[in-house]
Amino acid sequence: MKIKRIFLILLLLLLPALVLEYTSKPSLSGLEVYFLDVGQGDAILIRNSFGQNILIDGGPDELILEKIGRILPYTDRQIDVMILTHPHADHLIGLIAVLKRYQVDNVIYTGANYSNASYRYFRELISQKVPRITLAESNISLDLGDDCYLNILFPFTDISGQDFKNINNSSIVSELGCGANKILLTGDAEKEVEKDLLENYPDLQAQVLKLGHHGSKTASTLEFLEQVNPSLAIILVGKDNKYNLPSPETLENLKELGLKVIRTDIAGGLKIWLTETGLNYQKL
Ligand SMILES: [Zn+2]
Repeated sequence: MKIKRIFLILLLLLLPALVLEYTSKPSLSGLEVYFLDVGQGDAILIRNSFGQNILIDGGPDELILEKIGRILPYTDRQIDVMILTHPHADHLIGLIAVLKRYQVDNVIYTGANYSNASYRYFRELISQKVPRITLAESNISLDLGDDCYLNILFPFTDISGQDFKNINNSSIVSELGCGANKILLTGDAEKEVEKDLLENYPDLQAQVLKLGHHGSKTASTLEFLEQVNPSLAIILVGKDNKYNLPSPETLENLKELGLKVIRTDIAGGLKIWLTETGLNYQKL
């Protein structure tokens, strides 16, 4: 009798975790893409139908842990691929928290020079804890199943050990797609990189564009927006941020092109389902 009762109690204790695990498995083929509201910074979580997790940037602090903890199943402590677009704190600090809490299998970053204690610590941590470290360049393509992929478009070549006057322009730019449906993720890349991208990829287009540098006027030229021709523009930006982002100039460009705009400072987080047949989105 006692054993039976213990078994029942154990089952009751485990049940919520089992149900959560079951219901949190993505059911659709394709990708779930989460643009997280982490305040003034970038953090994007991608989950494929096999339950693999890709995290691009981690925001400015530990808030990321709470955000991804709400999305991932209770038992899932694995980040299959972590991408640091560039070493500014508003992209980097959250990743350090994730590295401490989760098992990270592969880190993709540029290895560009940047003199900053947090970046040094990040490099130290990954060299100790992460089995695979990949230096970003444009021939890297990750197969995410269901005809989905993540292609690195920029930097064009290995830039590890290089100095940058403006480290924003070392940002990893990637294209997330399922079939012909694409989301373009630009980190904090500015106008100069946008120009390089247009020259190297004259057919560059995407249904969704995550605007470079939090909607700053240093990015998102009219020419770039016209070429990429997205139907949805996403701005990852913090409420009442001290940089007054997004810039009125950028908002004006978006308005001129009649683009639907979603800002995390106003709308909060956003989830996009990306599949071969199209994409849908909802507030998080
Ligand atoms: Zn930034």
